[in-house]
Amino acid sequence: MRDTWPLLEPIPFPAICRGRIETLQVNVGYRCNQSCVHCHVNAGPNRTEEMDGETIDLVLAFLERRRIATLDVTGGAPELNRHFRRLVEAARDMGVRVMDRCNLTILDVPGQEDLAHFLAAQQVEIVASMPCYLLDNVDRQRGKGVFEGSIRGLKRLNELGYGRDETGLVLNLVYNPQGPSLPPAQGPLEADYKRVLGEEYGIVFNSLFTLANMPIQRFGSMLISKGQFDDYLALLRQAHRDENLSGVMCRSLVSVDYRGYVYDCDFNQMLDLPLTRGERERVHLSELLDEDVTGNPIRVAGHCFGCTAGQGSSCGGALKEAAE
Ligand code: SF4
Ligand code: SF4
Repeated sequence: MRDTWPLLEPIPFPAICRGRIETLQVNVGYRCNQSCVHCHVNAGPNRTEEMDGETIDLVLAFLERRRIATLDVTGGAPELNRHFRRLVEAARDMGVRVMDRCNLTILDVPGQEDLAHFLAAQQVEIVASMPCYLLDNVDRQRGKGVFEGSIRGLKRLNELGYGRDETGLVLNLVYNPQGPSLPPAQGPLEADYKRVLGEEYGIVFNSLFTLANMPIQRFGSMLISKGQFDDYLALLRQAHRDENLSGVMCRSLVSVDYRGYVYDCDFNQMLDLPLTRGERERVHLSELLDEDVTGNPIRVAGHCFGCTAGQGSSCGGALKEAAE
C-alpha cells in the first residue's frame, strides 16, 4: 500500500485547538469480517490487533472519571473484540450513550446470532455504513454479497424496533462517495435513501450521514496508483469552508487505539499522528485520567480538508453550520 503521509504533511491547514472532550472514540481492534476498498483502517479478517481487557478497564475508568457523555466504539468490526459486550454493558450502566459502528453483515456471522438482540437490549445506537441503495455499487465498494447481507441486517434491526422514532432505538446510515468526489447534499440524499430502501425493502432508519472519503490508507493509496491524488486534494482544498472548522470532530472527541494511546481523531490514528502534549510525543489514555487537554493544539495536515470541504464531514455526517 502506498503511504500518503509524505504528500499530506507539507499541505498547510488552519490551526485549531481542542475543546472539552464529549466523546471517547475507541478502536477496539482491526479484525473485520469484510475488507472494503475504502476502509481507512485497513481492516480485514486476518488482522489480529485487539484491545485487551486491561485497556478496556482503563476506557471504563476514563468514562467515569472524566464524565464523558458518549462512547463511540469502532474497529474493524468492533463486535469481534472478545470484551465488546462487557464494555458496552458497563458503559450503559454508567448512563453513557454508546454508539456502535456496525457493518451490518456482522449480524449474520456465526457466533453473533444474538448480537442484534444484545444491542437493542442495551439501547446502543447503531451507525452503519451503506454507501448506496443499489446492489452493484455497494458490492463494488464493500465486497460481493455485502449489499444483501446489509439488507438482511437492516431488516433484523427494524424487527427489533431500530430506526423508528417512537422506540428510541437509533439506526443511522453512513454514505461515502464511490470515487474521488465530494458527497452530495445530505438532506436530499437522505430522502432518496428513505424512499428507495422503504419502497424496495420495507426498511426504515433515522438519519443518513454523508462523509467525504479521506485521502489516506487504502483509498489514498488507490488515488496515488491511479494518478488522482493531487486532483482529489485540490478538490478538497477548493471546497474548504472556514465555518466548518468549529464543528470538526477532533474539537470534542479523543480517539483511542487498541493499545490505549490517544489521537485527535480516528484518521490521525490511522496516519499514526498521536496527540502530543508539550514534550510528550505519545500520550496514553491513563495519563489523561487527571489531565485536561482542553486548548491542546490539534495535529492537522492536508487530510483535514476531507473534514472541512463543502458541507463538511464529521462522525455525525455533514456539519450543521454548513449544511443549513
Ligand atoms: S466493514 Fe468497516 S472496518 Fe470492516 S473493512 Fe469495511 S470499512 Fe473497514
Ligand atoms: S482529519 Fe478532521 S477530525 Fe482529524 S484532525 Fe483533521 S480536521 Fe480534525
